[in-house]
Amino acid sequence: MTDSNRHPRRIVVAGGGTAGWMAAAAIARTMGRTVDLTLVESDAIGTVGVGESTIPPLVTYNRLLGINEAEFMRATQATFKLGVLFDDWKQVGSRYFHSFGLTGKDHWSAGFQHFWLHGRANGHGQSYDDYCLELVAAMQGRFAHMPEDRMNYAYQLDSTLYAKVLRQMAEADGAKRVEGRIAQVEQHGESGDIAALVLDSGKRVEGELFLDCTGFRALLIEQTLHAGFDDWTHHLPCDSAIAIQTENVGPPVPYTRAMAHDAGWQWRIPLQHRSGNGLVYCSRYLSRDDALARLLGNIEGEALTEPNFLKFTSGVRRKQWYRNCVAVGLSSGFMEPLESTAIHLIQRAVLRLIRMMPQGEISERDIAEFNDQQHADTLQIRDFLILHYKATERRDSPFWRYCGTMEIPETLAQKIELFRETGRVFRRNEELFAENSWVQVMMGQGIMPRAYHPIAEKLRADELDALLGNLRDTVARTVASLPEHGAYVARYCGAAQPAMPAAAAMARG
Ligand code: FAD
Repeated sequence: MTDSNRHPRRIVVAGGGTAGWMAAAAIARTMGRTVDLTLVESDAIGTVGVGESTIPPLVTYNRLLGINEAEFMRATQATFKLGVLFDDWKQVGSRYFHSFGLTGKDHWSAGFQHFWLHGRANGHGQSYDDYCLELVAAMQGRFAHMPEDRMNYAYQLDSTLYAKVLRQMAEADGAKRVEGRIAQVEQHGESGDIAALVLDSGKRVEGELFLDCTGFRALLIEQTLHAGFDDWTHHLPCDSAIAIQTENVGPPVPYTRAMAHDAGWQWRIPLQHRSGNGLVYCSRYLSRDDALARLLGNIEGEALTEPNFLKFTSGVRRKQWYRNCVAVGLSSGFMEPLESTAIHLIQRAVLRLIRMMPQGEISERDIAEFNDQQHADTLQIRDFLILHYKATERRDSPFWRYCGTMEIPETLAQKIELFRETGRVFRRNEELFAENSWVQVMMGQGIMPRAYHPIAEKLRADELDALLGNLRDTVARTVASLPEHGAYVARYCGAAQPAMPAAAAMARG
């Protein structure tokens, strides 16, 4: 039995970014007085300062924590997000939308794409997009909550403000916050488990269970415990980003944009009070100066901040729970932000940890199960991300030529070929991205199935016409009845507009 194999009454969260406060808020709310929870963070070090686009499970996370949505959106200057608009990914000039919604109507034996493909083979010219409520609403800039959660959405939010909201909750629920830089991580001599964090001031924060939320530094899990890291740069070659905030130009749209350029892509995320922008690129093919010039040349409003330069390595920590330390957030690994999956992985890790919270001894079986489940999530997301780069027809730059011809994991190759040959996609276990996500991105990137399920042919031509026509009309009619997104946000959760900071003095490239 090691020193840490006792009831983990004292839980210490190292780091107070989105990961630290998401973990602290959820643990404090769920576990209440059964744990003694302390979070250590350093204002002097600060947070990564990005991470504003989310995916729908965050709605559930906030509901689980009992967060009032309108108040939360007001406090975080949030807008609604219905998906991501991808420009120039398949080819320069191409465009597709990955929406959060269902498209058309599935049959239990076959997804809607099979019926749409049958229609296409029989002369129906309508786009697959026309059958998806969220997609059509997004492109028309409309939004409203709908009965029975029929509109599937996420948020675009200010991550610094989100951490503040979570901090207030966590502190109200009994979490303690300690300010200061962690200078040393103390280990038990015999077991090697973490015993305490020692701050610059000399203060020691002891615990039985430690959450490493120190971001890319991975102070506990890597710098102290050397859990190891699998580097996936060969599959996900972007390794740098520059972020900048700008004034909004026009009302916020209910979607995030991902605009490909010749060595990566650029994001645009509209919040209520400003927009987040960033250029993600591969430093092998684009210099920092050229990347900055490109970003500044392609932002819409006045810049409000100085550029924030970030370096990262896509990959995963080999053991996310190791000894008495659980890595949550960027310390556990990072895959570039194309599909806004990082905050979601924080959510999964936190909920998983709460489900596996040790009662007495830390069980090696819990650790193994946690690591297996986290790893499986990560691999599935990794494959989905690689798809965007691999399935491209672009060959107009060395970056895209590399992506188009790179080796890919067998799991992804199987998924692509299965879809190409049969139109089928299978969601395995608790895979994050549903069938329709894969279908939208595969077709958007130019992979068109050669066949479809024979059940689609059960429909006579007039029945198929009626089915497709009705589905399309219902979507069009419903969207026409929705309010404009910006007006809806203002009514539902409009935040006071803060005084704009002086525009950063910088030349536009
Ligand atoms: P950080 O924000 O870096 O926080 C680390 C914390 O540890 C800070 O409080 C810091 O003060 C503290 N700390 C570190 N060292 C010490 C020390 N020695 N002593 C005391 N405290 C210390 N995710 C999404 O879901 N959607 C997105 O759109 C998205 N976009 C992204 C774009 C880019 C370019 C990058 C790099 C990431 C993006 N992410 C996105 C990921 C997202 O930003 C992170 O997952 C999220 O912010 C969590 O970060 P974190 O809390 O793990 O780390």
